[in-house]
Amino acid sequence: MKKLFIWFVFCAVCECFPYPANLECYASNNCTLPKCRCMGIDIPGGYTRIETPQMVVITFDDATNWENWDYYRYLFPPDGSRVNPNGCPIAMTLFVSNNYTDYCMVKKLHARGMEIADHSYTHRIPRLWWANATKEELAYEILTQRQTLATRAGIPISDISGWRSPYLQPGEDKVFEILSENNFTFDATISHPLPLDSYSQVIWPFTLDYRFNTVCHIDPCPAKTYPGFWLLPVVIVMDYREEKYCVYIDSCENPPTNIEESFHLLWKNFLRNYRTNRAPFHVNLHSSWFKQDFNLKAMDKFIKQLLTMDDVYITTVTKSLEWIKHPTPLSQLKDFDPWKCNYKSNQEDDVICEMTTDPKKLRFRLLPTSKESVLSFVFCVTVVTLTIKYYKKICWLAISGFNTENWELGEMDDKEA
Ligand SMILES: [Zn+2]
Repeated sequence: MKKLFIWFVFCAVCECFPYPANLECYASNNCTLPKCRCMGIDIPGGYTRIETPQMVVITFDDATNWENWDYYRYLFPPDGSRVNPNGCPIAMTLFVSNNYTDYCMVKKLHARGMEIADHSYTHRIPRLWWANATKEELAYEILTQRQTLATRAGIPISDISGWRSPYLQPGEDKVFEILSENNFTFDATISHPLPLDSYSQVIWPFTLDYRFNTVCHIDPCPAKTYPGFWLLPVVIVMDYREEKYCVYIDSCENPPTNIEESFHLLWKNFLRNYRTNRAPFHVNLHSSWFKQDFNLKAMDKFIKQLLTMDDVYITTVTKSLEWIKHPTPLSQLKDFDPWKCNYKSNQEDDVICEMTTDPKKLRFRLLPTSKESVLSFVFCVTVVTLTIKYYKKICWLAISGFNTENWELGEMDDKEA
C-alpha cells in the first residue's frame, strides 16, 4: 500500500500516468497518417520539396454579405475560369459568423466549392470573453452557428467541419472538447510564431493525439489530447518591410500603401513556404482589407501569379488536410480523388434564393459586435424604451402642438393614472 502511495505521488508530480498526453509523438512509431500526424516541419509522406504541391489556403473571417460579395466573385469567379493545375476551380475557406450574414450568398458560394466553416454565432466582444466563457456558453456559440449555417444556407452539417474562434482567442480545452465531441475535424485559431528567418521551414498542420507542446502565443492553449483532431497553426507573417509580425495579413502595423507593397507582403511570405518545406501557406484576412483598392488589385495579381505555376494549388482547409492525410506527389495529383471536381460554369446560378441587397435588412438581427454598432444599438434601445415609457406625453406634445400648458395637463393626467 505504501509503495502504491509513493508511486501515485511520484506520478502526480512527474505527470507520468499512462496517458497519451505525456508520451512523445513519433511519426514512425505511434503516430501515422492518415489519422495522426506529429507536430513538425517534415513533409508528409517523406516527399522532397520538388515533389510536393505548394498549397495556398486563403481564408476570410466574419460575415458574408454585400460588403464582400463582389470581392469574392472577382477573386474566385463563378464561371470557374481560374483553375488549379488539375483543371478544377480555385477555392477558399470562409469562417462565417452570424451577425450581418446573408445566407443566400453563403449558399451560393458553398454550391461552387468554397468551404464554409464556423466562426461563432454572436462574435461578441470583448476578446477575453472567448477565453473565460463556460463550456455551455461556448457550445451555444459553436453549435448554434453550425446549425444556422445548415438550416439557412442548406449546407450539410458534415460539410461544416472547421472552427476559428473570434479574435483568434483560444478557449483552452473547453473549445476542443466541444469540437471533438461534435465531429468537427479542425481548429484554425492558435497562432504560431514566425520561423526565425526567410530560410527557416514552416510548421505543417498536425493532430492533437499528443500534447500540444509548442509555443502558446496567446493563452490559454489546450492541455489535453484529441486523437485525430487537426490543428492548423495560424503562422504569423512578416509585414512588407520585414520589420514587424502580423497575425492576419490585414493586421500589420506597417500596412502597405500601394499595390507593389501589398503584393510584396503576400509574395515574400509565400516564398518562405514555397522555397523551404512547402507547408501550406495560409493567407488569413478580413475582406475589409480590400476597401483599399490597391490591396484588392495586389491579391488579384498574387492569385494570377500563382495560377501560372504548375506546382501551386489554391484550395480549402479541408482539401489541404486531405492531401496531408494522403500525401501524393505532384506528378499524380491529376488523379488525386479528394481534389477531383464536379463543376460546371456558373454553378451558383442553380441555387435559388433571394440575396439581401438592402444592408438595413441585415442590421440589428442580433447583438452587435463592433464598438460603433454597440453604441448604435444602445442608442436605439434607449429611444425605443423612452418612447414606450413616455408615449402618452409624446402624444400630448404632438396633439397640443408643443403647447406647454397642455404638456403640464398631460403630466397631471399621467400621475392620476
Ligand atoms: Zn472574426
